[in-house]
Order: sequence, then C-alpha cells, then structure tokens
Amino acid sequence: MKDTSPPPPIVSLRAVQKYYGTYHALRGIDLDIGEGEFFSLLGPSGCGKTTLLRTIAGFEDISEGTLLLSGQDMSGVPANKRPTNMVFQSYAIFPHLSVAENVAFGLRRRSDLSKQARQVMVEEALDMVGLGGYGARAAHALSGGQRQRVALARALILKPKVLLLDEPLSALDKKLREQMQNELRRLQRHVGITFVLVTHDQEEALIMSDRIAVMFEGEIAQLADPQTLYRRPLSRRVADFIGVMNFLPARATETGAEISGLGRATITPEQCPAGPLSGDCTIGIRPETMSILFGDEPAPASETRGLVHELAYYGDMTYYDILLDGVEKPVTLSMKNLVGRRVLERGETARISWDERALVAFAN
Ligand code: ATP
Repeated sequence: MKDTSPPPPIVSLRAVQKYYGTYHALRGIDLDIGEGEFFSLLGPSGCGKTTLLRTIAGFEDISEGTLLLSGQDMSGVPANKRPTNMVFQSYAIFPHLSVAENVAFGLRRRSDLSKQARQVMVEEALDMVGLGGYGARAAHALSGGQRQRVALARALILKPKVLLLDEPLSALDKKLREQMQNELRRLQRHVGITFVLVTHDQEEALIMSDRIAVMFEGEIAQLADPQTLYRRPLSRRVADFIGVMNFLPARATETGAEISGLGRATITPEQCPAGPLSGDCTIGIRPETMSILFGDEPAPASETRGLVHELAYYGDMTYYDILLDGVEKPVTLSMKNLVGRRVLERGETARISWDERALVAFAN
C-alpha cells in the first residue's frame, strides 16, 4: 500500500510570536514543513513572511513559542550553527572574484577542509546548478540568471538540510524568472533538500511549491497544496490573492444557493471550505470556469446571459468584463482565442456557460 503519511517535519514552529518593539509581526504561527518539501510563504508586502524566514534562519529571535529544526530546539542556537542556509534577494556575488571563489565563500567557516577537498566540493556544487566548468570565469561576466545560480551553489555547497530563499528571483526579468522557476524546482527535486521560499508572487508559488502558506498580517490564513488553495480558498481574501475570482451575492437554499446573475445551484460541502452556508452568502467563480457560447452551441452545463461591458485582448486569451442581469459589478471571464473563434465587441449580448461544480461558497 502506498504510504500517504506526510514526510517527517524538519521545521516545526509552535505558537511563535514575534514583536519588534510594540509591533506584532508574527501572531501565533503553528507550522510543520516536511523533509524534502518545496514550501512557500506567500503574502503581500509587510505580512511577515521575511520575518518568519529569518527566524528559521536564526537572524531574528522569536519573542514567544518554539522553533525546532530536525527535532532540536533552536532557542539560543546562532544562525551559523543551524542546519539552514539562506539565498537572498540581492544575491551578493563578489564581481572581482571568480565563479569558483564566489562558491568557495560558502566554505569560509570550514578551516578543516584541504584545498583539494574544497575544489571538489566547489565543482560538485557548480555541477548541481548547471554551471560545471564555469569555475574560472570572472563573476562580473555572468548573466543575471547565472549569478543567481552561483548564489545557489554557494548556499548549497555545505548541503544544508533546509535552504531558505528570500525572493531569490525578484531581480530577474520576466522570461528569465520563468526559466529560473523551473530550474529551481528541478534543482530542488534533484538535491532533495527542503526549500522554503518567500514570495509575494502567487503564480510563482503555485508553479513551484508542494505546499503554500498564505500569510496576512502576521498570521497564516491558509496552508494547502496549490490546487486546493486555488480551488478551495478558505476566505474571499485568500481567493482574491491567489489569481482572480468573481464574487456574486447569493442566498443559501436547502441544497445550495440562489445566486445573483447565475440562478440556482447545488453546492456540495466540499465547495464550502470555511463551513456550511446559511442566509446571505457569497459565491466565488473563477474567470476560466465560465465561457461564451457562440451561435446555437448548446451549453455544456448551466447557461446565463450578459452584456459585454469591456474586453482586453491578450493575443492568446481575451478577458471579458460581463454585466450579468441583476448584478452591479461586471464579472470577468476568460476565453482562449482558438482558431476560428471570433472576439466579441463591447455592447454585444453574450450567452454564457457556467458549471456549478466550479463554485466556491463563502459566508459574507
Ligand atoms: P516584504 O515582501 O515587503 O519584505 P514581508 O511580508 O516579508 O514584506 P516582513 O519584512 O516580515 O514582511 O515585515 C513584517 C512587518 O514587520 C512589517 O510591517 C515591517 O515593517 C516590520 N519589521 C520588519 N523588520 C523590522 C525591524 N527590524 N524592526 C521593526 N519592524 C520591522
């Protein structure tokens, strides 16, 4: 039988509080990160994700609570004695040194190693990040992506149990960033080390992570795998932060809800992640789960009508803002621009297909 139990935790936080003077930056964090997981801390600026990462690293003390790494209590253990290493946003490569010298900087506290052992370790670390043979190059002659990989090699050379990454890709342009996201994910699978990534970019977190903790104001609002987070957000705030979600006023019925602009729908308990519905509520629906019907095409599920209020053509996709009957705020709907499919114009009436299985319900 397949073992479905979660991996043993390598990072455990229990009731962790952090104050900066009177400012309450972390408010009761309980968190287990498993061995070999790619874990992301995601949230808007100022939510405390960097603080949380720095407390794991040992760059910040915790004010209350417990932090265990590999089951060991870390109170009083300095950063350099922890089984962690950190990759920073500004990756602090020394431009006047060679690539190998930059990577060897990660060994500066290991005076016990022979020159030869160092060389072997540097070469191994460079191989790991796909820079084998680049050791003699001057660091200033590297591209942004290569510099980031040098920083990773330097952090990985001592084989930490946990690699902490503070917005490591935010200095890169969009294309390179996407490429590095895939590379980082591959690298993490290859080395099998636990990665804890801090990011404010929800797409980046979804692409890379096994699990994500969404943080607001020093608290974890939801902790889940990417699909659960996207499909079953616990609150409107989480739903809004992870991609785009339309919210429609609704009233709970015996089996589901009566939804403004859509009509009646059955809602299963799984579609109410925060608990059962009663009275006035809100129904969430993602843009890609609705579609426009052309000609006399039959609706695969339920059907409604609306007026094209605004549209944005993205080449591969068109985003429509549609005014549904009886709903004040337009809903956003996305359509792939398939061959032979026309783009509607502002003011046109559209037939819209929607599927009750895609709905998520929230108490108001
Ligand atoms: P960002 O993405 O902008 O870095 P963040 O979610 O990582 O945001 P933190 O850097 O963890 O946020 O900061 C959380 C809160 O704690 C912020 O309001 C910040 O101003 C405050 N803070 C962080 N470090 C200190 C400090 N050394 N002294 C006082 N307040 C601090």
